[in-house]
Amino acid sequence: MEKQTLIFIPIPAAGHHASMVEMATRLLHHNPIFSATILHIPFHDFPLPSSSTSNPNNLSFHELPHLEPPQPNPNETYSVYVSLLVQLYKPHVKEAISALSGDVLVIDFFATTLIDVADELGIPTYIYCTSNAAMLAVMLHLPILDEEIHQDFEELEQDLIQVPGLPLISPRSLPESIASKKMQSYAWYLYHGRRFLEARGIIVNTFIELEHATLRSLSKRITNIYSIGPILSMQKRENYRHECMKWLDEQPEKSVVFLCFGSRGRFGEEQVKEMAGGIERSGKRFLWVMKGLEGMLPEGFEERNRKNGVVWKESVPQVEVLSHRAVGGFVTHCGWNSVMESLWFGVPMMTWPLYAEQHMNAWLMVKEWGVGVELRVERAGGVVIKKEEIENGVRCLMEESNVRVRVMEMKSVCRSAVNDGGSSFASFEGLVKDMFLVKARLKSRRGEQLHVIKGLE
Ligand code: UDP
Repeated sequence: MEKQTLIFIPIPAAGHHASMVEMATRLLHHNPIFSATILHIPFHDFPLPSSSTSNPNNLSFHELPHLEPPQPNPNETYSVYVSLLVQLYKPHVKEAISALSGDVLVIDFFATTLIDVADELGIPTYIYCTSNAAMLAVMLHLPILDEEIHQDFEELEQDLIQVPGLPLISPRSLPESIASKKMQSYAWYLYHGRRFLEARGIIVNTFIELEHATLRSLSKRITNIYSIGPILSMQKRENYRHECMKWLDEQPEKSVVFLCFGSRGRFGEEQVKEMAGGIERSGKRFLWVMKGLEGMLPEGFEERNRKNGVVWKESVPQVEVLSHRAVGGFVTHCGWNSVMESLWFGVPMMTWPLYAEQHMNAWLMVKEWGVGVELRVERAGGVVIKKEEIENGVRCLMEESNVRVRVMEMKSVCRSAVNDGGSSFASFEGLVKDMFLVKARLKSRRGEQLHVIKGLE
């Protein structure tokens, strides 16, 4: 059977990249007719990850040339920078897809400018949303909200906003990027939201049982929507076990609270001190992972807590940590990969959202899904959360049974979803079929065209 070449273009951000590689890997395992290339946009902060031995051998990585990147604007969010960066790559992406004879393009949801390239080449585009269906619903509905609501969302603090498929949402929970119409990020979200409708299909890293109403509502506007999650990147380095895992081995079951805030989570010194105070007062064992902590911890904190906890100032293999029997709770920034990973291993969460769509995720986790203990965090930032609140939150996380019960349910539901016969498995099969069919149709169309041209000779 003829090979089908899939081209994947993630944005250069760890969570987005790893998730897309994992999705590509699954497609390759599922159907040997596929081969895949990941086009990597070089980025100073994010070198091409070294290919892992667990990658299938029909998956390759192709690095695009280095280009002068856009000037980052400190007042804008990362979504602006990355949307501009991706746009610069259009000619290079076109060249690479042509050289690789790509049949199908799969792009990150901040890379919709590349739909133009696929259109020029006459190949279909699928969009991969590494976040959830709620995020997709907000972005898709933004063009309509933009016409209906003339004020900035940040000026509507008291009102609630209706997004189809979601409960009424406070503007304070919407992604920071759309807080004000004056922000470039607002314009980019509008742009991407409009372009989603041009895609052949949209793939989302979620599962129906979690976001049922949202997915049902989305499917009224988008025919081909594929909820195939959880997609988790579980790649392990061979013959290597991180130091912190050895410490976890010595701790009792479900006794440790794990605090970790994604690839970009940073706090000021005052907040770090309150956090340390809160953790210490809770009396719980802890594994606290945070870059840039040097010189910020209260005097003697590490010595005093040597028995009870570990502070790690570099990243740790989060998936392995969450899978460890000693971990009983996760204080998270609510990045979507982290949420999916925590549900997968049945670890209850305390929500400490920081950026992007994390405030919306936190709100859903606490109010809708019951999988998170709430910590009140202002999206506008600048408010230091006191140690007493952190202490209470951590105690509640480690002792509150409702959230734990609900998370254990979700653990079993999400595992069933991706197994044979489950909802995400069925959706995944639908995706594979669609990718195959679209190619077959395209081939026959190309064939027809050739025939006509031959007839004219
Ligand atoms: N991660 C990790 N170790 C760390 C911090 C993060 O392995 O110390 C991984 C985590 O498991 C997740 C990803 O990095 O897969 C972070 O993605 P997420 O969507 O949660 O947050 P982002 O970094 O995109 O804000």
